[in-house]
Amino acid sequence: RAKEHGRACHRTYEPDMELVVQQRRDLEQDLRRALELGEFTLHFQPVVDTGRGQITGCEALLRWESPKRGRVPPGDFIPFAEEIGMMSEIGDWVLRAACREAAGWVQPLTVSVNLSVTQFHREDLLARVSLALAESGLPAERLELEITETAMIDDVVGATAILEQLRRLGIRIALDDFGTGYSSLSFLRNLPFTRIKIDRSFVHDLGIKPEAAAIVRAVTGMCDSLKVSVTAEGVETERQMAMLQAEGCAELQGFLISRPCPSAELAVWMDDYARARAGEAEAVLA
Ligand code: C2E
Ligand code: MG
Ligand code: MG
Ligand code: MG
Repeated sequence: RAKEHGRACHRTYEPDMELVVQQRRDLEQDLRRALELGEFTLHFQPVVDTGRGQITGCEALLRWESPKRGRVPPGDFIPFAEEIGMMSEIGDWVLRAACREAAGWVQPLTVSVNLSVTQFHREDLLARVSLALAESGLPAERLELEITETAMIDDVVGATAILEQLRRLGIRIALDDFGTGYSSLSFLRNLPFTRIKIDRSFVHDLGIKPEAAAIVRAVTGMCDSLKVSVTAEGVETERQMAMLQAEGCAELQGFLISRPCPSAELAVWMDDYARARAGEAEAVLA
């Protein structure tokens, strides 16, 4: 391609390509080492039912602390790991580590684990999930798998079969980032989700774009009639929280409630949250 545009273009194009190839090779090597050297950790972000004042679960989020690169955001390495075929292995580590940590929590909360597209389509997905549960002792009801529609849209029939097998194990299934793709009503009606997570872009638009509230209301109403739970992601302000509650969406996740943090910090946060709720209840009674 560069040759067609003559020498000038050719000269600037080639070193760039080499650099990109080299950078990708480095990243791949560092990622493989990260898994071996234990540079991955999990952070957990609570989801609260603001109606009942209860923590309903936590989402496990992958973190990479690289001695060489520093803290690398998931968006900078997960899509790449997916592309080079490493995300299935990393995702398996996440699944097992999340189940292990959750099994040790004082409160029997649900833990939500994000599944990558390749993980979702692996033949041995069911076996891997079963193993993670068995070796950790976590009851299947306490595991929720988060899947985006990208993983399902090309083959809805096949996806339905996989989800039904997972459901038969007793696991719950959340449709993540709802509203960012093409999900139709029939998609929602026919696939056995137990939760819909409204993407944070809608939450962000609340109070900015008038249609955002209408969309949240429609999704929440639909989930209610389908008997599916609904959670709003990325709640950052009191105003967004109030608007979500007004539209009937009480289960919230976001920086306003808590940032994702390590398990130990989460335990402290949960105690504080329970104490604050108890304080509120006493204030009402007094
Ligand atoms: P996600 O599954 O939709 O996770 C929610 C993301 O939103 C997290 O970003 C979280 O830190 C962020 N977030 C939570 N509350 C707020 C808020 O109030 N405001 C804003 N602006 N952001 C908020 P994170 O941890 O950077 O992860 C980004 C994405 O990377 C995740 O989106 C998920 O798609 C993917 N990811 C993370 N961990 C894993 C994993 O273990 N496996 C797979 N396959 N994907 C993962
Ligand atoms: Mg998620
Ligand atoms: Mg999400
Ligand atoms: Mg997301």
